[in-house]
Amino acid sequence: MQKITISRDELICHKKYFYENVVDNLNQMKEKYKKGATTSRKQWKFLSLCLYYKKQLAIGKPYQLRKIQKIIGKNYADIFEKDEKFKEEVEKAFGYDNFSSADIGCNLLEYAKKKSKVCRNGRYDDKKILKELYTELEKCNVELADEIQTKIKNLNGDINKKVLVNIIGETLVVHIVDKDILIDKLAEWNPYIMQFHRKIRTCPYCNRQYITPMYSRTGRARADLDHFYPKSKYPYFSMSIYNLIPSCKSCNSSLKGMKEFSFEDRTPYEISIDDSAEFKFFPHSKIQFCKKEEDKDIDKYKEIFNIEELYEFHRSYAKDLLRKRLKYPTKRIKELAKMGFFSEQELYKFIIGKISTKEKILEEPLNKFKRDLVREIFGEEILKMVEE
Ligand SMILES: [Zn+2]
Repeated sequence: MQKITISRDELICHKKYFYENVVDNLNQMKEKYKKGATTSRKQWKFLSLCLYYKKQLAIGKPYQLRKIQKIIGKNYADIFEKDEKFKEEVEKAFGYDNFSSADIGCNLLEYAKKKSKVCRNGRYDDKKILKELYTELEKCNVELADEIQTKIKNLNGDINKKVLVNIIGETLVVHIVDKDILIDKLAEWNPYIMQFHRKIRTCPYCNRQYITPMYSRTGRARADLDHFYPKSKYPYFSMSIYNLIPSCKSCNSSLKGMKEFSFEDRTPYEISIDDSAEFKFFPHSKIQFCKKEEDKDIDKYKEIFNIEELYEFHRSYAKDLLRKRLKYPTKRIKELAKMGFFSEQELYKFIIGKISTKEKILEEPLNKFKRDLVREIFGEEILKMVEE
């Protein structure tokens, strides 16, 4: 498990989204429970507590979430136990499902609606919204606005919301990956934009799968957002940005699934387990992920994500590396270097291949595994020579 970070921009966007959506919902819900019977008093107090800690629930660091959990555990431990309906309402108020199903085309439309402020008899004027959208798009990307405009012109008829969303969605997606300014300016905060910002290329739990987001005409894909503390049990942390770990599908659903981390376990926003454990290869036994120092988090992580079993699939890399070392011992490399065509460093790079630096582990799959094995088989000094 590799440590990941959140940028200041992300925190600002997420807090804004949380305040504009979740806080409004919670306020409405609190109002409802205030008017209710005396039995809802505790629920009303619970909602007040959530609102009091709104900033921490939105962007609080893991230690702040733990503090809130302590208070809730002490005073409201059974708040959801007897009342499934209340739990469902809280889940809905935090609105993770809405957040995670966001569509960038729809987001743009909402943005244009807000900007255009044109609303007659409770209905928005699609053409005026569209005009507003052109203006905004033109500010960012003329080519894109033209493309949408041409499509609209060819429609010859009614423009309804569905058509509009399709056109915007279809046209936009072709350009969105490299148009950071467009994303920042127009689309509302959602998991795609979060991941375009984050720029993590592989899963921080396993470092085996790519999780790069893609939003295109023909399809879309993004990393799962794993709730480190499960949303089914702690719905009030379902929208906490430090509880959302971008991860691959197999780590989030298949491996972690119903297994849980506890509030004592540290999250990938706090530690790199990779720093205190390393992969080891033994020719006659399985790949092992061994502790370099005593750290209780390692066992839990290994167990939840089946790390050793999964890395056993990459055993051939280790065997191949060992074979290369036996064929090219230090003495042989020195002899070859003396011939004057290549330096020792170049020769090692040819033989071992590209090895990333520690800082770039999440850029490519298996980087941590490769670094550990090169260190084990060739030694630290040669690892330093080949890393980039
Ligand atoms: Zn993974």
